[in-house]
Amino acid sequence: MQGGTDIADPQSALTVLNPVRTHVTLLKSDAAEGMLSLAADEAVPVHARLSTLDGLSVAQNYFATTFGVGVQRPVRIDLRAYHPDDVDFGGFTANHHIVIYASSQRGVPVSDYYLRRAAIHELFHVLQQELSGGADLAIGPNWLVEGGARLVEDIASVQSVPIQSAPYQDTYFGCALLNEEAQARRPLPPLSAMHYYGPVEEGGNAGYALAALGAKRAIGAHGPAALGVYYRELAHGDWQAAFVRAFGVEPEAFYKDFARARANDWPIALADCNTERDDDED
Ligand SMILES: [Zn+2]
Repeated sequence: MQGGTDIADPQSALTVLNPVRTHVTLLKSDAAEGMLSLAADEAVPVHARLSTLDGLSVAQNYFATTFGVGVQRPVRIDLRAYHPDDVDFGGFTANHHIVIYASSQRGVPVSDYYLRRAAIHELFHVLQQELSGGADLAIGPNWLVEGGARLVEDIASVQSVPIQSAPYQDTYFGCALLNEEAQARRPLPPLSAMHYYGPVEEGGNAGYALAALGAKRAIGAHGPAALGVYYRELAHGDWQAAFVRAFGVEPEAFYKDFARARANDWPIALADCNTERDDDED
C-alpha cells in the first residue's frame, strides 16, 4: 500500500516467528521510521501473534494515510499469555512499550479480532504521545485520549475488513452505552467530568463507548484527520486552543452540545441494539 507499512506477509511472518520468548519479529515501516518489535510468550499461539502483527500493520497504514505519519520511534509490543487477576484491562501502553494480554482474566484466549483491535488501539496511544510531545496525558482530556483510540481502532478495523458501514459506529457505541445504563450500577458522568484518568476506565465498555461518541462528535465533518491536528496543536501546551483549532468549537460549547445529543439521541432504542446483534450473528 502506498506510503504504508511494509511487513512480511502472514506466511513469511510465520517463518520468522519463534516460540522462544526472547526472539522478536521486527516490522519496519517505510512511512514511519519506527521499528515495531513483537515479543510473545511461548504459550501464545501463532495465529494470535499474526493477528497482533496484522493489527500493527493496519494501524501504521491507517496512521500514514490519515495523519500523514505513523509511529516514528521504536516500539516494543509485549504479547503475554496470562492475564493477572488484578488487572481488569486488556492491555496498556507506557511510553513506547505496549503490553497486550492474549487471554482474559479467567484464562480464556481472546479472539484474533480482539487482538487486532487492541494492537491498533494501543499503537494509537503511542502516536498520540508522539504527535503531542507527551501532552496527551498531561493536559488534554482523558475522554479524548481513550475515545480517540477507541474510535480509530474501530474505523481502521472496519476499513481493513469492510464488514460494517459508518452508521454502525453510532449504533455500536450507543448500544454499549445503553446496555450499561440499563444495568445501571451507576450512571456515567457527563463527558466534561471525564477529564482526568479514572471515569472512562471505571465505566468499562460503556465508559469507552461514551468517550468514543464524544470523539466522534468532536471530529464531526472534519473527519478523523482532525485528531492529528488536535494532538499536534496540543504540543503547544493549551488543550482548549488545540480543541478549537482542530474541531472548530470551544470545549464549553461542545460539552453543552454533546450533553444535549446524549439526552436526545442516545440511548437509542433497545430494539435497534437487538437487531444489530441479530445481524452480527448471521
Ligand atoms: Zn486506551
